[in-house]
Amino acid sequence: MKVIQASEPDVVVDVVCDVCGMSTRDGEGELLYGTMHASWGTGSRHCGEEYELHLCERCFFGQTAEMKRTRWLAAMFDEEGDAILDDVAYGLVKKSA
Ligand SMILES: [Zn+2]
Repeated sequence: MKVIQASEPDVVVDVVCDVCGMSTRDGEGELLYGTMHASWGTGSRHCGEEYELHLCERCFFGQTAEMKRTRWLAAMFDEEGDAILDDVAYGLVKKSA
């Protein structure tokens, strides 16, 4: 969750992890967080709702590991089951050099 200081324009002074509740600032003051975002459209049960969650690095990868585990549980007896657990880049779409 963004901690915003009211001003013109509003200033984000901190981002608190929505899982552990800790600041996402590192020792040098940099904000380090991942974002989960959803914007539900027509046909969904949550049509018109938009969500945004901020996670510190530790909680982000904890949550993605849990998602991967949930997917594995649903497919553990299928051929692809173990491949899901071996996917070390689960959700990764880009990696800078
Ligand atoms: Zn956290």
